[in-house]
Amino acid sequence: ATVPAPPQPTAVRRATRRIQVGAVAVGGDAPISVQSMTTTVTADIDATLQQIAELTAAGCDIVRVAVPSQDDADALPTIARRSPIPVIADIHFQPRYVFAAIDAGCAAVRVNPGNIKRFDDKVKEIAHTAGQAGIPIRIGVNAGSLDPRILAKHGGRATPEALVESALWECSLFEEHGYTDLKISVKHHDPPTVIRAYRLLAVGCDYPLHLGVTEAGPAPQGTIKSAVAFAVLLNDGIGDTIRVSLTGPPVEEVKAGNQILASLGLRPRQLEIVSCPGCGRLQADLYRLTAQVQAAFDGFPHPLRIAVMGCVVNGPGEAREADLGVSCGNGKGQIFAHGTIITTVPEHRIVDTLLEEAMRLAEHTEPE
Ligand code: SF4
Repeated sequence: ATVPAPPQPTAVRRATRRIQVGAVAVGGDAPISVQSMTTTVTADIDATLQQIAELTAAGCDIVRVAVPSQDDADALPTIARRSPIPVIADIHFQPRYVFAAIDAGCAAVRVNPGNIKRFDDKVKEIAHTAGQAGIPIRIGVNAGSLDPRILAKHGGRATPEALVESALWECSLFEEHGYTDLKISVKHHDPPTVIRAYRLLAVGCDYPLHLGVTEAGPAPQGTIKSAVAFAVLLNDGIGDTIRVSLTGPPVEEVKAGNQILASLGLRPRQLEIVSCPGCGRLQADLYRLTAQVQAAFDGFPHPLRIAVMGCVVNGPGEAREADLGVSCGNGKGQIFAHGTIITTVPEHRIVDTLLEEAMRLAEHTEPE
């Protein structure tokens, strides 16, 4: 019998407009970008720039900072100028901070129209100012802050239809003034709602879409909720930029975002630790060894796949796809490369030997 060919894993990317967030293109055929948001007080310029530097080092493409006060707005010019990646100002409630962010040289502005009082009156002015400056705006609709009129129309519930209606309504206000440099998000805490909302949005407009599951919680719950929703949508070809929202350090959001994209083949492969789950054949402290290998290879710039296997019975065979690996047994580690055993070392030498061999292999590969 012949094995049928599997379906294509990823649909054709949805055709969207392309916008420019500073140096990073979003939409069209631009690579899908990873975003995060600082957790520092924005007015604390040094702390905010330090966190942005950490996010950049972790692989963040675009960063967002909250602007809840005049002090934060006053900090924007310095932050925008010194940040190594584009800065988006996140504005709730206060349209005047939108103008401040544009004047400050921010790469984009995110507004939540449901939260900005008398927003409709201000659209013309915002569209004109942003248009003149060439600054895109994200219409960021959140389930928790939907326009009361739309919420009432949908029975008081933030349904996918309500989220999309709100987003497209706000877009139409900008379109009336000839401004279309827009990006949209419709966030909810429930992945099935997020999936339906973005699918509706994808057929309702051709603006680039920012994917997010809001209030997703701490890891691993938050990571899993985001990964589930993003995988379905990205597999549909929907999504141009992503943020994994976590109750935790924002660097973890960036790592998760990059891993989701790499797992779907949408980012170049990164260094990957492949480790077995362990079973009754286990002959080593697998959890400790895997943690040590993970720590030793943190930041290793070459996209190697390193396997950590708990026994010699199936180790190299199970991890044949790995570039490098170890199978444990009898206080020793069989080190293998591409499934072939190359040396055997005592347990305390396993991590160092893997690092030495990785560097040797890395000489023949390009860093990512
Ligand atoms: Fe079990 Fe060995 Fe497979 Fe790990 S590699 S799951 S210990 S059989």
